[in-house]
Amino acid sequence: MKILVINAGSSSLKYQLIDMTDESVIAKGNVERIGVDGIITHKVADGRSVKENKPFATHKDAFEELVSRLTTGELAVISNINEIAAIGHRVLHGSEKYKVTTLITDEVIYDIGVTFKDLGPLHNPPQAVAMQACRDVFGAEVPMAAVFDTSFHQTMPDKAYIFGIPYEYYEKYHIRRYGFHGTSHRFVSARVAELMGKPIEELKIISCHLGNGSSITAVNKGKSVDTTMGFTPLDGVIMGTRSGGIDPSVVLYLMEKEGLTPAEMNTLLNKKSGFIGLSGKSTDSRDIVDLSLAGDYRASLTAHALRYQIKKYIGAYTAAMNGVDAIAFTGGIGENSLHLRSEVCEDMDYLGIKIDEELNVKYDRQEHDISAADARVKTFIIKTNEELLIARDTKALVESL
Ligand code: ADP
Repeated sequence: MKILVINAGSSSLKYQLIDMTDESVIAKGNVERIGVDGIITHKVADGRSVKENKPFATHKDAFEELVSRLTTGELAVISNINEIAAIGHRVLHGSEKYKVTTLITDEVIYDIGVTFKDLGPLHNPPQAVAMQACRDVFGAEVPMAAVFDTSFHQTMPDKAYIFGIPYEYYEKYHIRRYGFHGTSHRFVSARVAELMGKPIEELKIISCHLGNGSSITAVNKGKSVDTTMGFTPLDGVIMGTRSGGIDPSVVLYLMEKEGLTPAEMNTLLNKKSGFIGLSGKSTDSRDIVDLSLAGDYRASLTAHALRYQIKKYIGAYTAAMNGVDAIAFTGGIGENSLHLRSEVCEDMDYLGIKIDEELNVKYDRQEHDISAADARVKTFIIKTNEELLIARDTKALVESL
Protein backbone atom coordinates (compact mmCIF):
# COMPACT_ATOMS: atom_id res chain seq x y z
CA MET A 1 0.00 0.00 0.00
CA LYS A 2 1.33 3.46 -0.96
CA ILE A 3 0.33 6.43 1.16
CA LEU A 4 0.85 10.10 0.41
CA VAL A 5 1.51 12.29 3.45
CA ILE A 6 0.76 16.00 3.19
CA ASN A 7 1.93 18.79 5.46
CA ALA A 8 0.40 22.01 4.15
CA GLY A 9 1.11 25.58 5.16
CA SER A 10 -0.38 28.84 3.93
CA SER A 11 2.03 29.00 0.97
CA SER A 12 3.74 25.62 1.05
CA LEU A 13 2.98 21.97 0.63
CA LYS A 14 5.40 19.29 1.85
CA TYR A 15 4.78 15.74 0.71
CA GLN A 16 6.11 12.21 1.14
CA LEU A 17 5.04 9.11 -0.71
CA ILE A 18 5.57 6.12 1.57
CA ASP A 19 5.50 2.44 0.65
CA MET A 20 3.85 0.80 3.66
CA THR A 21 5.15 -2.68 2.81
CA ASP A 22 8.54 -1.65 4.23
CA GLU A 23 7.73 1.91 5.39
CA SER A 24 10.28 3.33 2.95
CA VAL A 25 10.05 6.80 1.43
CA ILE A 26 9.58 6.48 -2.33
CA ALA A 27 9.65 10.21 -3.04
CA LYS A 28 9.36 13.45 -1.17
CA GLY A 29 9.27 17.11 -1.92
CA ASN A 30 8.14 20.58 -1.17
CA VAL A 31 6.16 23.10 -3.16
CA GLU A 32 6.89 26.55 -1.79
CA ARG A 33 5.73 30.09 -2.40
CA ILE A 34 2.26 29.04 -3.59
CA GLY A 35 0.35 32.19 -4.56
CA VAL A 36 3.60 34.18 -4.65
CA ASP A 37 5.65 32.69 -7.50
CA GLY A 38 6.57 29.06 -6.88
CA ILE A 39 9.44 26.61 -6.35
CA ILE A 40 9.18 22.84 -6.37
CA THR A 41 11.78 20.45 -5.00
CA HIS A 42 11.21 16.78 -5.75
CA LYS A 43 13.49 13.96 -4.55
CA VAL A 44 13.36 10.23 -5.13
CA ALA A 45 14.67 7.33 -3.06
CA ASP A 46 17.94 6.85 -5.00
CA GLY A 47 18.99 10.42 -4.20
CA ARG A 48 18.18 12.08 -7.53
CA SER A 49 16.36 15.37 -7.19
CA VAL A 50 15.09 18.33 -9.13
CA LYS A 51 14.40 21.91 -8.14
CA GLU A 52 12.46 24.20 -10.43
CA ASN A 53 10.88 27.63 -10.37
CA LYS A 54 7.33 27.46 -11.62
CA PRO A 55 4.29 29.56 -10.72
CA PHE A 56 1.58 27.98 -8.56
CA ALA A 57 -1.40 30.26 -8.07
CA THR A 58 -3.30 27.92 -5.71
CA HIS A 59 -2.90 24.74 -3.68
CA LYS A 60 -4.84 22.93 -6.40
CA ASP A 61 -2.12 23.87 -8.91
CA ALA A 62 0.47 22.60 -6.46
CA PHE A 63 -1.34 19.24 -6.14
CA GLU A 64 -1.59 18.93 -9.92
CA GLU A 65 2.16 19.52 -10.19
CA LEU A 66 2.83 16.99 -7.45
CA VAL A 67 0.78 14.35 -9.27
CA SER A 68 2.61 15.08 -12.50
CA ARG A 69 6.02 14.82 -10.74
CA LEU A 70 5.07 11.49 -9.18
CA THR A 71 3.69 9.99 -12.40
CA THR A 72 5.63 11.51 -15.31
CA GLY A 73 9.13 12.54 -16.30
CA GLU A 74 12.52 11.17 -15.30
CA LEU A 75 11.81 11.21 -11.59
CA ALA A 76 8.40 9.51 -11.81
CA VAL A 77 7.92 6.83 -9.15
CA ILE A 78 4.46 5.50 -9.98
CA SER A 79 2.78 4.93 -13.30
CA ASN A 80 -0.70 5.91 -12.22
CA ILE A 81 -2.24 8.09 -9.53
CA ASN A 82 -4.50 5.11 -8.66
CA GLU A 83 -1.48 3.48 -6.99
CA ILE A 84 -1.93 5.93 -4.11
CA ALA A 85 -4.26 4.12 -1.73
CA ALA A 86 -4.85 6.94 0.72
CA ILE A 87 -3.67 10.37 1.80
CA GLY A 88 -2.77 11.49 5.33
CA HIS A 89 -2.90 15.19 6.20
CA ARG A 90 -1.11 16.78 9.11
CA VAL A 91 -3.47 19.16 10.92
CA LEU A 92 -2.52 21.65 13.62
CA HIS A 93 -5.69 21.93 15.68
CA GLY A 94 -8.58 19.56 16.28
CA SER A 95 -9.87 21.36 19.39
CA GLU A 96 -11.61 19.01 21.85
CA LYS A 97 -13.66 17.35 19.13
CA TYR A 98 -11.01 15.31 17.31
CA LYS A 99 -9.33 13.04 19.82
CA VAL A 100 -8.02 10.55 17.27
CA THR A 101 -7.05 10.39 13.60
CA THR A 102 -10.21 10.95 11.59
CA LEU A 103 -11.50 10.18 8.10
CA ILE A 104 -11.83 13.48 6.23
CA THR A 105 -15.39 14.43 5.30
CA ASP A 106 -16.93 17.80 4.37
CA GLU A 107 -17.73 18.29 8.06
CA VAL A 108 -14.11 17.67 9.07
CA ILE A 109 -12.82 20.14 6.46
CA TYR A 110 -15.36 22.71 7.66
CA ASP A 111 -14.40 22.23 11.30
CA ILE A 112 -10.68 22.55 10.57
CA GLY A 113 -11.03 25.58 8.32
CA VAL A 114 -13.93 27.43 9.91
CA THR A 115 -15.06 26.13 13.32
CA PHE A 116 -11.50 25.97 14.73
CA LYS A 117 -10.07 28.82 12.67
CA ASP A 118 -9.48 31.04 15.69
CA LEU A 119 -7.60 28.29 17.53
CA GLY A 120 -5.00 27.96 14.77
CA PRO A 121 -5.39 31.01 12.52
CA LEU A 122 -2.11 30.57 10.64
CA HIS A 123 -2.33 26.83 10.03
CA ASN A 124 -5.89 25.52 10.14
CA PRO A 125 -7.45 27.54 7.28
CA PRO A 126 -4.68 26.74 4.74
CA GLN A 127 -4.75 23.09 5.81
CA ALA A 128 -8.48 22.96 5.07
CA VAL A 129 -7.89 24.65 1.71
CA ALA A 130 -5.19 22.08 0.92
CA MET A 131 -7.52 19.18 1.84
CA GLN A 132 -10.20 20.45 -0.50
CA ALA A 133 -7.66 21.02 -3.29
CA CYS A 134 -6.24 17.55 -2.72
CA ARG A 135 -9.69 16.02 -2.96
CA ASP A 136 -10.43 17.98 -6.16
CA VAL A 137 -7.28 16.56 -7.75
CA PHE A 138 -7.33 12.98 -6.40
CA GLY A 139 -11.11 12.48 -6.36
CA ALA A 140 -13.47 11.72 -3.49
CA GLU A 141 -12.91 7.96 -3.75
CA VAL A 142 -9.34 8.19 -2.36
CA PRO A 143 -9.71 8.15 1.45
CA MET A 144 -8.02 10.98 3.32
CA ALA A 145 -7.14 11.03 7.02
CA ALA A 146 -6.65 14.04 9.29
CA VAL A 147 -3.89 13.53 11.86
CA PHE A 148 -4.04 16.28 14.48
CA ASP A 149 -1.07 17.70 16.43
CA THR A 150 -3.43 18.21 19.36
CA SER A 151 -5.14 14.83 19.55
CA PHE A 152 -2.43 12.92 21.47
CA HIS A 153 -2.80 15.43 24.30
CA GLN A 154 -6.56 14.99 24.60
CA THR A 155 -5.89 12.42 27.34
CA MET A 156 -4.59 15.14 29.68
CA PRO A 157 -6.65 15.34 32.86
CA ASP A 158 -8.66 18.53 33.47
CA LYS A 159 -6.34 19.58 36.30
CA ALA A 160 -3.45 19.66 33.77
CA TYR A 161 -5.22 21.48 30.96
CA ILE A 162 -7.20 24.10 32.85
CA PHE A 163 -5.90 27.67 33.29
CA GLY A 164 -6.67 29.65 36.44
CA ILE A 165 -8.90 32.23 34.78
CA PRO A 166 -12.72 32.48 35.14
CA TYR A 167 -14.15 29.12 34.13
CA GLU A 168 -16.71 30.76 31.87
CA TYR A 169 -13.90 31.46 29.35
CA TYR A 170 -13.17 27.77 29.08
CA GLU A 171 -16.87 27.20 28.41
CA LYS A 172 -17.30 30.17 26.09
CA TYR A 173 -14.05 30.16 24.10
CA HIS A 174 -12.58 26.71 24.89
CA ILE A 175 -9.52 28.38 26.40
CA ARG A 176 -7.36 25.60 27.87
CA ARG A 177 -4.03 23.88 27.34
CA TYR A 178 -4.16 21.83 24.13
CA GLY A 179 -0.54 20.97 23.47
CA PHE A 180 1.08 20.39 20.08
CA HIS A 181 3.73 18.15 18.43
CA GLY A 182 1.42 15.28 19.45
CA THR A 183 2.40 13.17 16.46
CA SER A 184 6.07 13.47 17.35
CA HIS A 185 5.58 12.74 21.06
CA ARG A 186 3.47 9.69 20.21
CA PHE A 187 6.08 8.40 17.73
CA VAL A 188 8.97 9.04 20.11
CA SER A 189 7.38 7.49 23.20
CA ALA A 190 6.38 4.39 21.22
CA ARG A 191 9.93 4.10 19.89
CA VAL A 192 11.39 4.40 23.41
CA ALA A 193 9.15 1.55 24.59
CA GLU A 194 10.28 -0.51 21.59
CA LEU A 195 13.96 0.15 22.34
CA MET A 196 13.42 -0.71 26.02
CA GLY A 197 11.62 -3.91 25.03
CA LYS A 198 8.70 -3.10 27.33
CA PRO A 199 5.00 -2.43 26.78
CA ILE A 200 4.41 1.32 26.75
CA GLU A 201 1.62 0.72 29.31
CA GLU A 202 4.36 0.00 31.88
CA LEU A 203 6.45 3.10 31.22
CA LYS A 204 6.70 6.71 32.34
CA ILE A 205 8.43 8.70 29.60
CA ILE A 206 9.35 12.37 29.23
CA SER A 207 9.59 13.26 25.56
CA CYS A 208 11.57 16.43 24.78
CA HIS A 209 10.87 17.62 21.21
CA LEU A 210 13.32 20.49 20.74
CA GLY A 211 13.47 22.29 17.40
CA ASN A 212 12.45 25.71 16.11
CA GLY A 213 9.34 25.02 18.10
CA SER A 214 9.85 22.99 21.26
CA SER A 215 7.61 21.09 23.61
CA ILE A 216 8.07 18.58 26.40
CA THR A 217 5.45 15.97 27.22
CA ALA A 218 4.87 13.63 30.15
CA VAL A 219 3.72 10.29 28.71
CA ASN A 220 2.36 7.96 31.37
CA LYS A 221 1.42 4.44 30.22
CA GLY A 222 1.36 5.65 26.59
CA LYS A 223 -0.90 8.63 27.29
CA SER A 224 -0.02 12.30 27.36
CA VAL A 225 -0.75 13.55 30.89
CA ASP A 226 0.85 16.99 30.61
CA THR A 227 2.68 19.07 28.05
CA THR A 228 4.41 22.43 27.90
CA MET A 229 2.73 24.06 24.89
CA GLY A 230 -0.63 25.52 25.75
CA PHE A 231 -3.62 27.20 24.17
CA THR A 232 -1.24 27.96 21.30
CA PRO A 233 2.34 26.75 20.67
CA LEU A 234 3.65 29.81 22.54
CA ASP A 235 3.82 28.33 26.04
CA GLY A 236 6.58 26.22 27.56
CA VAL A 237 10.31 26.64 26.93
CA ILE A 238 12.18 29.35 25.01
CA MET A 239 12.09 28.64 21.26
CA GLY A 240 13.69 30.02 18.09
CA THR A 241 11.42 33.07 17.94
CA ARG A 242 8.78 32.35 20.63
CA SER A 243 9.04 33.49 24.21
CA GLY A 244 7.84 30.33 25.91
CA GLY A 245 5.96 30.79 29.18
CA ILE A 246 6.23 34.20 30.86
CA ASP A 247 4.32 35.97 33.60
CA PRO A 248 1.16 37.16 31.75
CA SER A 249 1.35 40.56 33.44
CA VAL A 250 4.49 41.26 31.38
CA VAL A 251 2.26 41.28 28.29
CA LEU A 252 -0.05 43.93 29.72
CA TYR A 253 2.84 45.98 31.08
CA LEU A 254 4.70 45.98 27.76
CA MET A 255 1.59 46.80 25.75
CA GLU A 256 1.01 49.82 27.93
CA LYS A 257 4.62 51.01 28.11
CA GLU A 258 5.38 50.53 24.41
CA GLY A 259 1.88 51.36 23.13
CA LEU A 260 1.59 48.01 21.35
CA THR A 261 -1.59 46.71 19.74
CA PRO A 262 -2.63 43.06 20.35
CA ALA A 263 -1.33 42.19 16.86
CA GLU A 264 2.03 43.84 17.56
CA MET A 265 2.30 42.09 20.92
CA ASN A 266 1.49 38.81 19.20
CA THR A 267 4.33 39.39 16.74
CA LEU A 268 6.70 40.31 19.56
CA LEU A 269 5.95 37.10 21.47
CA ASN A 270 5.84 34.74 18.48
CA LYS A 271 8.43 36.18 16.10
CA LYS A 272 10.80 38.47 18.00
CA SER A 273 11.36 36.62 21.26
CA GLY A 274 13.08 33.37 22.22
CA PHE A 275 16.61 32.83 20.82
CA ILE A 276 16.43 35.87 18.53
CA GLY A 277 14.99 38.16 21.17
CA LEU A 278 17.36 37.14 23.93
CA SER A 279 20.56 36.76 21.90
CA GLY A 280 19.79 39.58 19.46
CA LYS A 281 21.73 37.56 16.87
CA SER A 282 20.02 34.39 15.62
CA THR A 283 16.97 32.15 15.69
CA ASP A 284 19.17 29.10 15.08
CA SER A 285 20.47 27.07 17.99
CA ARG A 286 23.72 26.24 16.13
CA ASP A 287 24.58 29.96 16.05
CA ILE A 288 23.56 30.32 19.68
CA VAL A 289 25.89 27.48 20.69
CA ASP A 290 28.78 28.79 18.54
CA LEU A 291 28.41 32.35 19.83
CA SER A 292 28.08 31.09 23.36
CA LEU A 293 31.28 29.03 23.06
CA ALA A 294 32.99 32.14 21.64
CA GLY A 295 32.09 34.07 24.79
CA ASP A 296 28.99 36.04 23.73
CA TYR A 297 27.13 36.71 27.00
CA ARG A 298 23.59 36.98 25.59
CA ALA A 299 23.95 33.85 23.45
CA SER A 300 25.31 32.00 26.44
CA LEU A 301 22.40 33.26 28.58
CA THR A 302 19.96 32.03 25.89
CA ALA A 303 21.54 28.56 25.78
CA HIS A 304 21.70 28.20 29.56
CA ALA A 305 18.16 29.53 30.12
CA LEU A 306 16.74 26.99 27.65
CA ARG A 307 18.62 24.09 29.24
CA TYR A 308 17.57 25.19 32.73
CA GLN A 309 13.91 25.36 31.68
CA ILE A 310 14.03 21.87 30.18
CA LYS A 311 15.62 20.57 33.38
CA LYS A 312 12.82 22.13 35.45
CA TYR A 313 10.11 20.56 33.30
CA ILE A 314 11.77 17.15 33.60
CA GLY A 315 11.64 17.59 37.39
CA ALA A 316 8.03 18.72 37.29
CA TYR A 317 6.88 15.87 35.05
CA THR A 318 8.76 13.32 37.15
CA ALA A 319 6.76 14.60 40.12
CA ALA A 320 3.52 14.59 38.10
CA MET A 321 4.02 10.93 37.14
CA ASN A 322 5.53 9.83 40.48
CA GLY A 323 8.68 8.77 38.67
CA VAL A 324 10.22 8.46 35.25
CA ASP A 325 11.66 5.51 33.34
CA ALA A 326 13.02 7.26 30.27
CA ILE A 327 13.89 10.66 28.84
CA ALA A 328 13.89 11.11 25.07
CA PHE A 329 15.60 13.93 23.16
CA THR A 330 14.28 14.57 19.66
CA GLY A 331 13.85 17.34 17.06
CA GLY A 332 16.62 19.37 15.38
CA ILE A 333 18.11 20.48 18.71
CA GLY A 334 17.34 17.36 20.77
CA GLU A 335 18.93 15.06 18.19
CA ASN A 336 21.88 17.27 17.27
CA SER A 337 22.94 19.29 20.27
CA LEU A 338 25.20 17.29 22.54
CA HIS A 339 25.91 20.35 24.71
CA LEU A 340 22.22 20.73 25.45
CA ARG A 341 21.71 17.06 26.35
CA SER A 342 24.77 17.12 28.52
CA GLU A 343 23.78 20.22 30.49
CA VAL A 344 20.13 19.23 30.89
CA CYS A 345 21.13 15.85 32.32
CA GLU A 346 23.87 17.24 34.55
CA ASP A 347 23.24 16.94 38.30
CA MET A 348 20.08 14.91 37.82
CA ASP A 349 21.34 11.79 39.58
CA TYR A 350 18.91 12.41 42.46
CA LEU A 351 16.17 11.51 39.97
CA GLY A 352 18.21 8.61 38.56
CA ILE A 353 19.03 10.46 35.32
CA LYS A 354 22.67 10.19 34.25
CA ILE A 355 24.09 10.10 30.75
CA ASP A 356 27.36 8.60 29.57
CA GLU A 357 29.21 11.62 28.11
CA GLU A 358 31.18 9.43 25.69
CA LEU A 359 27.99 7.91 24.31
CA ASN A 360 26.43 11.37 24.13
CA VAL A 361 29.26 12.50 21.84
CA LYS A 362 29.66 9.23 19.92
CA TYR A 363 25.97 8.87 19.05
CA ASP A 364 25.22 12.55 18.43
CA ARG A 365 22.64 12.74 15.59
CA GLN A 366 21.85 9.03 15.81
CA GLU A 367 19.17 7.03 17.54
CA HIS A 368 20.78 5.57 20.64
CA ASP A 369 20.63 4.88 24.36
CA ILE A 370 23.07 7.35 25.93
CA SER A 371 22.42 6.45 29.59
CA ALA A 372 25.28 5.82 31.98
CA ALA A 373 25.60 2.17 33.01
CA ASP A 374 24.43 2.93 36.57
CA ALA A 375 21.54 5.26 35.62
CA ARG A 376 18.11 4.22 36.96
CA VAL A 377 16.46 6.23 34.17
CA LYS A 378 17.24 5.57 30.50
CA THR A 379 18.07 8.52 28.26
CA PHE A 380 17.70 8.20 24.49
CA ILE A 381 18.32 10.19 21.35
CA ILE A 382 15.36 9.43 19.08
CA LYS A 383 14.91 10.54 15.48
CA THR A 384 11.34 11.70 15.24
CA ASN A 385 9.35 10.79 12.13
CA GLU A 386 5.97 12.47 12.09
CA GLU A 387 5.34 11.61 8.43
CA LEU A 388 5.72 7.90 9.11
CA LEU A 389 3.27 8.03 11.99
CA ILE A 390 0.77 9.93 9.82
CA ALA A 391 1.18 7.22 7.16
CA ARG A 392 0.73 4.43 9.74
CA ASP A 393 -2.38 6.10 11.14
CA THR A 394 -3.79 6.59 7.64
CA LYS A 395 -3.16 2.94 6.77
CA ALA A 396 -4.85 1.77 9.98
CA LEU A 397 -7.84 4.02 9.30
CA VAL A 398 -8.20 2.82 5.72
CA GLU A 399 -7.99 -0.82 6.82
CA SER A 400 -10.72 -0.23 9.39
CA LEU A 401 -13.19 1.13 6.79
P1 ADP B 1 11.22 22.57 13.27
O1 ADP B 1 10.68 22.82 14.64
O2 ADP B 1 11.05 23.72 12.33
O3 ADP B 1 10.85 21.22 12.69
P2 ADP B 1 13.83 21.39 13.58
O4 ADP B 1 13.35 20.24 14.39
O5 ADP B 1 14.41 21.13 12.24
O6 ADP B 1 12.80 22.55 13.48
O7 ADP B 1 14.96 22.11 14.47
C1 ADP B 1 15.63 23.24 14.04
C2 ADP B 1 16.66 23.58 15.11
O8 ADP B 1 17.58 22.48 15.21
C3 ADP B 1 17.47 24.81 14.78
O9 ADP B 1 17.56 25.64 15.94
C4 ADP B 1 18.81 24.23 14.45
O10 ADP B 1 19.85 25.11 14.80
C5 ADP B 1 18.86 23.00 15.33
N1 ADP B 1 19.95 22.14 14.92
C6 ADP B 1 20.09 21.46 13.77
N2 ADP B 1 21.33 20.88 13.72
C7 ADP B 1 21.95 21.21 14.88
C8 ADP B 1 23.21 20.95 15.46
N3 ADP B 1 24.09 20.22 14.81
N4 ADP B 1 23.52 21.46 16.68
C9 ADP B 1 22.63 22.21 17.32
N5 ADP B 1 21.41 22.51 16.85
C10 ADP B 1 21.08 22.02 15.65
